[in-house]
Amino acid sequence: MDEEFDIVIAGGGVAGLTAALTAARLGCKTFVLTGDVLGGLLLSIDKVEGFPGFIDGVPGYDLCPMIQEQAVAAGAQFTAASLNSLERQNGGWHLTSGKAQLRARAIIIATGATLKELGVPGEERLRGNGVSHCASCDAPLVRKKTVAVVGGGDSALQEALTLADFAERVIILQSGAELTAQAVYRDRIARQPNIEVRFDTVVDEILGDDKVRGVRIRTTKGNAGTDLELAALFVYIGVQPATAFVKADIKLDPSGRIPVDARLRTELPGVFAAGIARSGSAGRAAASAGDGAVAAAAAERYLAGGDW
Ligand SMILES: Cc1cc2nc3c(=O)[nH]c(=O)nc-3n(C[C@H](O)[C@H](O)[C@H](O)COP(=O)(O)OP(=O)(O)OC[C@H]3O[C@@H](n4cnc5c(N)ncnc54)[C@H](O)[C@@H]3O)c2cc1C
Repeated sequence: MDEEFDIVIAGGGVAGLTAALTAARLGCKTFVLTGDVLGGLLLSIDKVEGFPGFIDGVPGYDLCPMIQEQAVAAGAQFTAASLNSLERQNGGWHLTSGKAQLRARAIIIATGATLKELGVPGEERLRGNGVSHCASCDAPLVRKKTVAVVGGGDSALQEALTLADFAERVIILQSGAELTAQAVYRDRIARQPNIEVRFDTVVDEILGDDKVRGVRIRTTKGNAGTDLELAALFVYIGVQPATAFVKADIKLDPSGRIPVDARLRTELPGVFAAGIARSGSAGRAAASAGDGAVAAAAAERYLAGGDW
């Protein structure tokens, strides 16, 4: 393919999908490269909370296909491929995605992030055999067992609550002295009898030959390492922006995110960034959807007026 589009969007998460819906509705010829995962981080979330319009939450695996359906109905085209590189050409952009080439007058980068790993011995060996990034998928497998969640933010607490409906006991291992999650999750954790929190605790090693049997932990207060018996370990210690493919073109911020101005413009003419891949994102799904709409509207204005 070497077709020209008004707007090419990289990312099939809530930011990219909302950008596609908005751009197509504004009459722009819109193409979306969704990467490997349509739905992004929300794909594995049983109950996305705090998204407007869904009082009891909405499964992420329902929400994202619904937005995609709206975008397709508005005229956006999709493919499950990744954006690999961009090059300025004739006032627009020449893009490569695998072996395919395409041209865009404007680009919206909404490539989100992936969950960070602990980077300790045993993690790689036992991934999929008790080391998990998906509580919603694996919770039924830990019925009546003891499991741990690493992390103290929104995702960690939200997923600990999901696990608490199945597991006998859920232990949250938090490296800091307090939980950083929103009050709504902290309050729910405090009321949940089968969840306990261990502060100032780090995981040094994940134990087990072919499946997790525990972790070696230590406190940051200098206590010696102890072993904790577990059936599974769920890791939610933050995210790593998926922006490596543009680092030669755009100066990223220290966290690896793409700096933008109030119109979500990057330092490159005609290139916008939206969602959790951009600096200063509020991190939640509604904020990412809002970003997608803002970036698409700004891109359409740029294409209409040519001003940057
Ligand atoms: C466990 C967990 C629970 C959460 N629960 C909630 C919740 O209840 N409520 C809430 O508001 N928020 C929640 N969040 C936050 C929410 O997931 C994010 O705000 C949201 O997913 C960000 O959307 P995004 O589109 O910016 O990025 P992502 O969801 O990360 O999507 C990025 C997309 O980009 C694609 N991609 C990556 N690289 C490329 C490339 N090179 N080319 C093309 N495409 C690419 C990926 O395949 C993916 O489709 C949760 C997060 C986690 C981790």
